[in-house]
Formats: sequence, structure tokens, C-alpha cells
Amino acid sequence: MERQANKIVANQRGAIARALLRWYERARRDLPWRPPIGSRSGISPYAVLVSEFMLQQTQVATVSPYFLRFVKALPTIRRLAAAPEQQILRLWQGLGYYTRARNLRSAARMIVAEFGGRIPRSVQELMSLPGVGRYTAGAVASIAFDQPAPILDGNVARVLCRLGKIQSDPRAPKTRKVLWQRAEELLPRTSAGNFNSALMELGATVCMPRAPACPVCPVRRFCRAAEAGLQDAIPRPRRSKPTPLLMRWTICLSRANRWLIERRPDKGRWAGLWQFPTIEATDGQPVAAKIGRRLGVPIRGLRALGQLRHALTHRKYIFKVFAATGMDNGRITSEPMRRWVSLGELAKYPLSRPQSKIAEMISRL
Ligand code: SF4
Repeated sequence: MERQANKIVANQRGAIARALLRWYERARRDLPWRPPIGSRSGISPYAVLVSEFMLQQTQVATVSPYFLRFVKALPTIRRLAAAPEQQILRLWQGLGYYTRARNLRSAARMIVAEFGGRIPRSVQELMSLPGVGRYTAGAVASIAFDQPAPILDGNVARVLCRLGKIQSDPRAPKTRKVLWQRAEELLPRTSAGNFNSALMELGATVCMPRAPACPVCPVRRFCRAAEAGLQDAIPRPRRSKPTPLLMRWTICLSRANRWLIERRPDKGRWAGLWQFPTIEATDGQPVAAKIGRRLGVPIRGLRALGQLRHALTHRKYIFKVFAATGMDNGRITSEPMRRWVSLGELAKYPLSRPQSKIAEMISRL
């Protein structure tokens, strides 16, 4: 059954590509990394590279303002390669998944050092860059250079599963292999970039996870899921796992209108970003004693400021926030990664979203 479904799609691939490309021509969204509709300016490979890093696990609407701010501050691959990591993290602040920002900087440095400052065109060369997997390499090669490279992200996988009535889990390695093959078979010899963009656009705006708009879909007549009335059942919803809840204590320690911040380690969540000292909360232990031990000084006048919740894809956090006045007996600042900063100076340091909210909390004190 599955084999038959696959074959039908393969036989109709030229017609599917033409229908999608016609639709894309008139329905595509004007996005800041695409040349404006009707403009004669070409695609900027740099804009495609930056946008593809930002779009990994993040939606277009969230990415757009970040992208504009980023390319305004760092308009070329050479400027990006020369920028300090802290500037890049500051520009990325709030977008999450900060490893992408560090990888993008490393990729830019490698492009300058090994490719003479020109973004490579082939999937193989692109995949040699840090943070570039098969999807991102295919997207950059096809969209920026019109290379015939397939792509497979969540949107494309959903469209392909529905077109071919593929009912197995699209995340399973076996199904992914089939879907990569399908993405390759459907790819036209020319206009690969527009075709890939059209597939992603269809998944984002028409063939959406819930309630796909089949009556207005440009490939409705080729779609085996819609034909069988199975468009809402494919792909099968993922069984959701319970999300762990992590408790944290954060202390906003002040001294002469300055606040203590510290840099997080280079690895792990929010790596390299700054924070008010934050520790894992433990039942039955006094907050002041535990934080005092961590900072190496006694904590005075501890008071609760409130708490805030923060949800990530696979975990949730509750931050209980405290304020206290601190002395510096030299031990706090003997740590090179700690600073006393005014609220004005804090704006120069990259903070995660919950830490930015904590900064807002203390600005209201
Ligand atoms: Fe998706 Fe419906 Fe189009 Fe099929 S017809 S590709 S299910 S929007």
C-alpha cells in the first residue's frame, strides 16, 4: 500500500513541482531575508545563512525582528566573523537556543579562514561548517545558490507524509529516510530554491499541523491523505512526555546601586550568558546560607521579591527571586567571571529571557 502511494507521487512529481512553483509565485510571504516581491535584487547568501540558523526550531514571526537587528549590526560575513561573542549573544538575546549563535559565529570565522569569505555553495562544504546539518546545508545551497539539494524540516515532512499518505512516524529513522528520498525525487532540475521554499511555505501557511486548508491547497489533486480524508490524522500526533519542572533560587545582590552578575559556563543551557547568581533550589536548606556559601560571603537582609515561570520545549523552570545587600570582602570579585554593574550597564550584557525579566523586577524596586 505504502509502496503504491510512494510510486504515485513519484510519477506526478513534475506536475506537483509546477503547481507548487506557480502557487509560490503569487502566495509567498514577503520575509526580510527574501528579496521583495517584484524586486530585481538577487538573493543574499549571507541573509539566507543567518536566517536559516535563526529559523532552526523557531518560527518566522519570532525570527523576523531579530534577523533585521542582527544584519543591521553585522551586515557581512566578515563583520560577523570579527564580532566578539558577547555582541553576538546580545543580538541573539531572547531568541533562545544560544548554541546556534555561537555556531553561526564559528561558521562565519571558518568561511573567512577557509573559504576566502565566500559562503560555500555545495551541501558537502556547507556541512563542514559548525552547526550546519543536512537540512540547513540543503536550504542554503538551494535557496542561496539554486543547487538541486533537497530539504526536510518539520513542515516539509508533514506535507510529504500527507501527499504520499505515509502513516508511520515521520521522526522515525526509517520514515525519515523515505522522506529524504521523496524530497529528492520531487525536486525539479531548475528553481530548486523556490521549490524548497514553496514546500516550507505550504507547510507553514496551508498544510498546517491542525486543520490544513485543503480546499485552497495548490497540490490538493495529488494528495492521497486528503483523498482518503486522513489529512487530520497524518502525521500521527506525538505522545507527549511529562515535562520536568526545575526549581531555582536567584539572588539579586546589591551594593552601592550596583548588582552582582556572573557569566554562565561555556557549556550547557544559556552557556556564556550572564545572570544574577542562580542555584538549584533545595528543600529544607536556608536560602541565605546556601547562596552565601556559593558566593563565599555572608548574605544580609534577604527578602523575597517574587517568582517567575519559564517554559522551554523539554523543561519548565520556576525561579524564586530574592534581593539582599552584599558586602564584597574580595572573595566575590576574585572570580573573574563576576561583576558589579549598574542597571544601565546591565544592558550591555547578554541575558537569558528569565534573567531579563528578573532585571525588570529589580528596576521596579
Ligand atoms: Fe496538506 Fe490538504 Fe494540501 Fe494535502 S491537500 S497537502 S493535506 S493542505
